[in-house]
Amino acid sequence: MAEFMDREYHAKPLLGIDIADDDSQRQPVASPYDRRQPVGSVQWATREQAQQAVDIAWKAFPRWSETPVDERAAILERHADLMENHLPELMTLCSREGGKLLTDGVDEIREAVDFCRYYAARARELFAEPTLLPGPTGESNELMMSGKGVFAAISPWNFPVAIFTGQLVAAAVAGNSVLAKPAEQTSLVANRVIELLFEAGMPRDVVQLLPGDGPTVGSVLSSDPRITGVVFTGSTDTAQIINRALAARENAALPTLIAETGGMNAMIVDSTALPEQVVADVVHSAFQSAGQRCSALRVLYLQEDIADRVIEILRGAMEELRIGDPRDLGTDVGPVIDEEAREGLLAHIEKMKAEGRLLAEAKLDLAQTGNGTFVAPMAFAIDGIESMQAEQFGPLLHIARYHADQLEDVIDAINAKGYGLTFGVHSRNESFTQHVASRIRVGNVYVNRDIIGAVVGVQPFGGQGFSGTGPKAGGPHYLLRFATEKTRTINT
Ligand code: ADP
Repeated sequence: MAEFMDREYHAKPLLGIDIADDDSQRQPVASPYDRRQPVGSVQWATREQAQQAVDIAWKAFPRWSETPVDERAAILERHADLMENHLPELMTLCSREGGKLLTDGVDEIREAVDFCRYYAARARELFAEPTLLPGPTGESNELMMSGKGVFAAISPWNFPVAIFTGQLVAAAVAGNSVLAKPAEQTSLVANRVIELLFEAGMPRDVVQLLPGDGPTVGSVLSSDPRITGVVFTGSTDTAQIINRALAARENAALPTLIAETGGMNAMIVDSTALPEQVVADVVHSAFQSAGQRCSALRVLYLQEDIADRVIEILRGAMEELRIGDPRDLGTDVGPVIDEEAREGLLAHIEKMKAEGRLLAEAKLDLAQTGNGTFVAPMAFAIDGIESMQAEQFGPLLHIARYHADQLEDVIDAINAKGYGLTFGVHSRNESFTQHVASRIRVGNVYVNRDIIGAVVGVQPFGGQGFSGTGPKAGGPHYLLRFATEKTRTINT
């Protein structure tokens, strides 16, 4: 692994044709845990290159959609094997470029591998043979599935391998050509993933990589009439911009938008819960990956009878958290992604502290963290989720107390917020957990455990409302929205 710690990486747009090096578009990449440590550089795509990539993808689509699904799926399976073989390199790069703990990096690559194998298997089931439908005598009716056209896959920095790979391989295996737009902050690891995908046999005009500025590249991908669909993970605001741009196009077929966006994830703990277990699950849900997961816990509701005990244990657990270099196996919490993210979180912290809301905090050792974008995990007291203005995408937890007779109001307040991604409930009273789990409107409910870490094919992941459109990633229906159906009726 040491060999990947110092290597310099360079990336540029990967189009179906060769493009020239252009230093005027080159951006340096440095590590979030130490801004003095260079990782390499990325040449960002221009508007013209994004447009060129759309032309190429448009031409590639008919041939690719007629390529037998077995061949398409086999490329994903080879890609999975290659990513497994390159796990040490990819996880190290996730740490160096994205500030991820090495252990988070392992989970991340494993998830990408699982996506490839799961979607390959699912595609063989869905696309290989037409489904025969019952009909009148003298007639045969078949239902066939195929790709829709050109998909843009616009992905976030917080899962730069798993979500990035999952989106694009789903689109490709369903028979679409794909324009993959990684997040600005994590283009180097995206570039390595695509190089491995080419090694696995993916044609270079079927999947193209467009690293670059979100609005510049994104506006081409959401305004060109030949884009059939966009699969997006990121903020709710950006999803709305893309949605409006797609809708404003003239002479374009009605598009598909598959979006997985923000969350305001809550957990309700009643008085029968086990405080030690609650704290272990809360710490994991709120602070793992420095709280930079869509699924992370933001608002913890504690029933009055148990609240003081849980907060006391939580204080102790937070003091134990080790914050520092994500490549060090003893580290619990690494940096946040960049200075902009840190500044946003610090502004929130300042406001909460000024209001006297600080309940608990972890210790930052400046000798360890002084040159990186670190934020100490903290917990604040709030009255309820109603007071939360925006998702704080970092290691900040908010705690509200409730009386047993206020339970329905708490559930109503969480539902009224309109986000619906993950939710947790802790209680040893089964009728309580069943009632709460059934009333809450979210995509993923977790009972008596942490609320992060969905397993592909086992816990399909995705929300509703402001949190996304569905279908759920890693679920049996995900590929269906990338596909179109054709019914063939033959007079026999
Ligand atoms: P975050 O706030 O988590 O960085 P964003 O929604 O800004 O989330 O980013 C998610 C992805 O959307 C990134 O790949 C980013 O480059 C891209 N993006 C940002 N702005 C736009 C836009 N106007 N159109 C399309 N994509 C965009």
